[in-house]
Amino acid sequence: MTAAPGRTGVLAQAREQVLDRGEGLSQEQVLAVLRLPDEHLPDLLALAHEVRMRWCGPEVEVEGIVSLKTGGCPEDCHFCSQSGRFPSPVRSAWLDIPGLVKAARQTVETGATEFCIVAAVRGPDSRLLSQVREGIDAIRADGNDIRIACSLGMLTREQVDELVAMGVHRYNHNLETARSHFPAVVTTHSWEERWETLRMVAAAGMEVCCGGIIGMGETVEQRAEFAVQLAELRPHEVPVNFLIPQPGTPYEDFDIVEGRDALRTVAAFRLAMPRTMLRFAGGRELTLGDLGAEQGMLGGINAIIVGNYLTNLGRPARQDLDMLRDLRMPVKALSETL
Ligand code: SF4
Repeated sequence: MTAAPGRTGVLAQAREQVLDRGEGLSQEQVLAVLRLPDEHLPDLLALAHEVRMRWCGPEVEVEGIVSLKTGGCPEDCHFCSQSGRFPSPVRSAWLDIPGLVKAARQTVETGATEFCIVAAVRGPDSRLLSQVREGIDAIRADGNDIRIACSLGMLTREQVDELVAMGVHRYNHNLETARSHFPAVVTTHSWEERWETLRMVAAAGMEVCCGGIIGMGETVEQRAEFAVQLAELRPHEVPVNFLIPQPGTPYEDFDIVEGRDALRTVAAFRLAMPRTMLRFAGGRELTLGDLGAEQGMLGGINAIIVGNYLTNLGRPARQDLDMLRDLRMPVKALSETL
């Protein structure tokens, strides 16, 4: 086990361990990074960017998402406006197949290589799975050259196999937060149940996409715990969200994450998971603004979601694509990922 480093020593250690050898930071080291004083932030971001360039390359993966079934979820994730248990303004709605195909086509037009079909459910029932199957067939029949991912909650073994048979190459299921903090965020299911779905997804050969939300009352120690728990899963992709306090949810009055803490967290995640695709997801506009989004792209991030994030409108996709052009970061081409 690596000894806990001093405050600034951790950057020198990370340079050798993560940048040169490609080994992620330990929990103690991640904690030291998260506690770095503000004056070390530029050095931290620069190192995280070097690590990303060394182990992931310059390309950025762009993904669009669409909600097949919105709202009315029986679970009680305290951050989520789609839970049917809270008086949030989000109402239950289903998207029809033509709507799904249209969203996929628009996503292809942005140059994105990935399209994720999402449903607000505890887990899919047979009706939802047949809609997903129909939707995927229709997207393919429409001639869209894009890879399809799904996010449909907790799965059984049979459902994992069904999704593999449909050609779904990546499954998203977030652990949301550190194991020790999870019971404060969700009471209707456990962290371990989520972990089990992810384990089955990985065993079936699908890529694992698993991340969470920063700013749900977790301590800095729990952020470090979360980073290494994610790393243990060896995920292909980690979406990093920052809490957007949603009206009507138990977290509606939470403060938004401070920009510098958000950037420190992004860099710490990169140093914990040097080879993982780290995706900017919800809350980046609110927490970081335009400048901060660029700093994140130059501080360890190598993937983004464009357009809307289910219940919150993100900034227009064009703006993100212009940012990538200005930063001279090429969008990952679909043909290279197949
Ligand atoms: S399971 Fe998903 S959709 Fe349902 S309340 Fe939790 S986060 Fe929201």
